[in-house]
Amino acid sequence: MNRPAEARQALVIGAGLSGSAVAYSLAQRGWSVTVLDRASGLGAGASGLPVGLAAPHVSPDDNVLSRITRAGVEATLQRVQTLLKAGTDWAMTGVLEHSLAGKRRLPTNASDHHSSPASAAQIAAAGLSPGTPAIWHAHAGWIRPRRLVAAQLETTGVHVRWGQDVHAIEREGELWTVTDAQGQTLAQSRFLVVASAFDSLALLRPLPGFAVPLNPLRGQISYGLMSDLKADLGAYSNPVHAPSALPPFPVNGHGSFISGVPTPKGLLGWYIGSTFERNCEQAPVRTEDHAANQERLATLLPNLGQAMAGQFGPDRVMGWAGLRCTLPNRLPAVGPIDPLRLPGLWISAGMGARGISLAVLCGELTATWMSHEPLPLPPGLVKHLAAERYAMG
Ligand SMILES: Cc1cc2nc3c(=O)[nH]c(=O)nc-3n(C[C@H](O)[C@H](O)[C@H](O)COP(=O)(O)OP(=O)(O)OC[C@H]3O[C@@H](n4cnc5c(N)ncnc54)[C@H](O)[C@@H]3O)c2cc1C
Repeated sequence: MNRPAEARQALVIGAGLSGSAVAYSLAQRGWSVTVLDRASGLGAGASGLPVGLAAPHVSPDDNVLSRITRAGVEATLQRVQTLLKAGTDWAMTGVLEHSLAGKRRLPTNASDHHSSPASAAQIAAAGLSPGTPAIWHAHAGWIRPRRLVAAQLETTGVHVRWGQDVHAIEREGELWTVTDAQGQTLAQSRFLVVASAFDSLALLRPLPGFAVPLNPLRGQISYGLMSDLKADLGAYSNPVHAPSALPPFPVNGHGSFISGVPTPKGLLGWYIGSTFERNCEQAPVRTEDHAANQERLATLLPNLGQAMAGQFGPDRVMGWAGLRCTLPNRLPAVGPIDPLRLPGLWISAGMGARGISLAVLCGELTATWMSHEPLPLPPGLVKHLAAERYAMG
């Protein structure tokens, strides 16, 4: 029996970067998508991060992670160009990667990439000493993830239901039924995409054949207002720009420092992060993590770190913490979980520390796969993302 309308309806659990990207890509293909999230509004999970980087990963052998991340960054940049306001929601500033201890190296044949050795002028603009090993990523910049999530959810064909705490998922006949803690049915569909980050584990673990080893990895950023920096930066001399000028682009390599990003109230902010804490399923803001971020800044940008030492006191610094959802090879799990035993059940989770760079690509991958269209990546890369890699034999 042919049921085209029903066949193009999907449920998505989780309204963060992952779920909103899946919903957007499906809706663009004519699907009707209902997104359920237990929070009362945007940004409850890791995608509530005030600002983060979209930047490629490089490796001398241009490994799988590098190739997938590069494709992901390109997909994200195209999406934000279409949906968001440059300068306010995102900016393609380029990113300087300080290659501490020579940790990052470019592939030998990098001619088709947008990464190259940083120039002396770029190193100086970051306030680093001449000769500091650094890479310049031209196709990279900062993004406010909440803005991207909001824009993707505002797409025609996407319907979001907040306050829907999914407790269990179960297959009844041809349908996936999603229930709350009281056993009440919240929704049903033939296609269900689980995109609730680490919390996907609790929903999926009871199912036969499920073995995706999702883990929580807590992280905290420290941030403040640029207007509060002025006095402290008097002594900081940036060799290229005016004294007291902050790097005109984000710098990463040991955490990342980003400045000149509008806060929700329109003031400009600076941001340094992030900490990494394993086996922690809660995300409170901690004073000791501000100290860790201060040390991170002192390693990443020593002159600036020294000048900003006074900014990390409890009266000045602000914090935001969240849980990344990771998988052992640092690549997400995307696609059908086990098409034979669990038909219609899909996942897009495990974005780790790269959700801004990867979620849009994973959303496209999910939607093209579900729509039987050509996939956005070659099969040799898809197999490294496929959730089926965890299917138990
Ligand atoms: C400190 C820190 C810094 C980071 N910096 C960067 C960066 O610079 N660049 C980068 O690319 N990435 C960065 N990341 C990672 C990025 O934020 C994440 O990879 C991304 O936000 C994950 O998106 P997600 O949609 O998978 O998960 P989330 O945003 O966590 O969304 C999951 C959603 O599912 C909902 N949910 C959970 N359980 C249920 C349930 N049972 N029922 C209904 N709804 C449910 C939650 O309410 C939530 O809205 C950082 C993360 C952290 C913590």
